[in-house]
Order: sequence, then C-alpha cells, then structure tokens
Amino acid sequence: MTSRLPFVDLQAQRRRIGARMDEALARVLAHGQFILGPEVKELEGKLAAFSGVKHCIGCANGTDALLLPLMAWGIGPGDAVIVPSFTFVASAEVVVLAGATPVFVDVDRGSFNMTAETLELGILAAREAGLTPKVAMPVDLFGQPVDFASLGRVCSKYGLKILSDAAQSYGGAQGNRRVGSLAPATSTSFFPSKPLGTYGDGGAIFTDDDGLNDLLRSIRMHGQGIDKYHNARIGLNSRLDTMQAAVLLQKLDILEDEIATRDRVARRYSEALDDVCEVPRVASGNVSAWAQYTILIENRDGIAKALDAAGIPTAIYYPIPLHRQEGYRHFPIAKGQLAVSEELARLVLSLPMHPYLTIADQDRVIAAVRNAVA
Ligand SMILES: *Cc1c(COP(=O)(O)O)cnc(C)c1O
Repeated sequence: MTSRLPFVDLQAQRRRIGARMDEALARVLAHGQFILGPEVKELEGKLAAFSGVKHCIGCANGTDALLLPLMAWGIGPGDAVIVPSFTFVASAEVVVLAGATPVFVDVDRGSFNMTAETLELGILAAREAGLTPKVAMPVDLFGQPVDFASLGRVCSKYGLKILSDAAQSYGGAQGNRRVGSLAPATSTSFFPSKPLGTYGDGGAIFTDDDGLNDLLRSIRMHGQGIDKYHNARIGLNSRLDTMQAAVLLQKLDILEDEIATRDRVARRYSEALDDVCEVPRVASGNVSAWAQYTILIENRDGIAKALDAAGIPTAIYYPIPLHRQEGYRHFPIAKGQLAVSEELARLVLSLPMHPYLTIADQDRVIAAVRNAVA
C-alpha cells in the first residue's frame, strides 16, 4: 500500500521557505508591535503594488473583508445583494449580518461563476420582492475570475456596485490585470488553504477609491475618528495581525511561481482526464489561481470512495447550494430554478491541488480517477 497524498501540502511549502519564515517571525517577537505593526503596512503596500491598485486594507479574515465594504457603503434593511447560490456560505452570511437580503442566482456550468444573465434575473427578482438591488457580489469560484466586463455592463444598467469575492482567486488575473484590480472593490481571504494563505486567519480589501479606503480603515478600528478614543461611526475589531502579515510577506515572494505551478498541474490533469469526466474550463485571457481543481462526474460519491481507498483524498465543494440551506432557504431566488447550482452540488469532486505535487503524484491521481471510472 502506497502512502496517502495530502490534499494541500503546507509542509512542502514550509521546507522551501521555513528558514526565512522563522527569521521573519522572530523579528516580530523582538519588536513586539503585534497590532498594526510595520509588517502590516509593508504587506499592504506590496499587495497593492502586486494587484496594481492604490489601496490594500488588511483585516481579520475573508468574511470581514466582505462585510466591511457593505458597512462602508451603508447597505442595510430593504437592500438586496445579488449572490451566487453555489459558493461558500460566507458570501451570503455577510449580507444578512449587514441587515440586507441576499438574493440567490445561478451560475455557469463550465466556469462555476455568476454570469450577466443570471445576475440580471437576480436583480429583477429582488425588485419583485420589493427590495432595492444595491450590490452584485460575484464569486471567483475555485480561483477563476468572473467575466467582469459583462457583469459590469449589467451593474451600470441597473445602478449596482460590484463587490468581488476573490477569496479563492488571489494571484489570478484577467487580461493584463491581476485580481484586486478587476472590480471597484475586491475582497480576499488568507485562510491557510487559500492560494495565498497565512498561518491563521486574515483577509484584505483592494480598491482605488480614496474615500472607501478611509472608511474601511476607520471601520476595522471600531469606527475610529480622528484618534483612538473618537468614534465617528459603528465599526468592529477587524485587523490583520502583525504575525500573519509577516507570514504573508514571505509567501508573497513565491506566489507568482506557485500560481504558475498550480496551472501546470491543472493543465496536466485536464489533458489526462478530459475523456472520462467534465474538466474545469478557463476562459481565454483568464489566469485561475486554482484554489481547487474540480471535476464533474456521475456517481461522484462512488468515485470519491474508490479514490480514498487508493490513498487519494478528495473534497466536495459544495454539497448543498445556499438556497437549499436551512439558514438561507427563506431568501429570494432568481426566477425559475437554480438548476445548474443543484446539478453542480450533485456532481462536483475536487482533486488534490497544490504547487508541490510531483509528476508522480499527479500521475497517481490521474490513474486513480481513470481506474475508478472504468
Ligand atoms: C474562504 C472564503 C471566504 C471567507 O474567508 P475566511 O477568511 O475563511 O473568513 C469567503 N468567500 C469564499 C468564496 C471563500 O472561499
């Protein structure tokens, strides 16, 4: 029996950068500025430059990175935020926390993402429910940026803002622009297993908007006004730790290389599996960050079991679309059924994906899938 492959191999990454990482963390322990220390400022500058935007605002996690802009824009009761049903729960959770209503829409089967058509159906459903549609929150699912040009046209037509949930796509790109600069406001997560992950929780928001930048910096510090004990608005405690910023500075140095490696792994998987299952489609001009490599396959649970027996871990993102979840099923959905989301929940299977999969590891995954299907 051969050994079990890890689903995500953070230890292999640690072997590559561990020595530099330990020194970086020792520097934080020595200077002791654990809250908004110098590493946070340095990281915000480097991430803004990497993404090609004016401002990067660090915060406590990817969920807060979505909540903070909604708070800054004053989104609340009576407002609708259009959210895909096929996503991680945080995308919709923040809308409810802000006091607004999520309206769920379907996604495209090939890209897993919200489209101009599904967004428009959501806007119409929101109006029919007596709500004011204010924000579209497309999610770059599994790492691939949404089609911002077509979504942007729908948003201009109906006067919506775009908040991009890029929790899974940081490091990706569209045309000659990187994620972070593709929407007026972009949120990401540094959860350990994300393409740029830290050793705990973390998140960030990207924008070119000076006014939004000021508001976000205030809201992440309890609504701070001119100083710490002057409170201009309702905020929360949502800062990125100095320790986590130090970790991210080290990981950012190798991100471009890691994304290129993930892409090579994805291409090999797709070439070798295209004839036995539906492989993910990446639109031309898009670079996916490959947070997940997800196939569509009949008898998904049987295949997962066979892979598990062969030492290959898999994951199901996501088994239940949000409009079917207990906490969310009373919210409006776009006209008709969210048929693609339901079909995806039945068929999706994510295979091991990280930049440290050897050719032999990849071949093992490929052979195990082909054997399971045969
Ligand atoms: C991970 C994730 C989030 C939330 O990020 P956290 O850092 O875990 O709070 C939000 N949206 C999507 C699509 C995610 O995958």
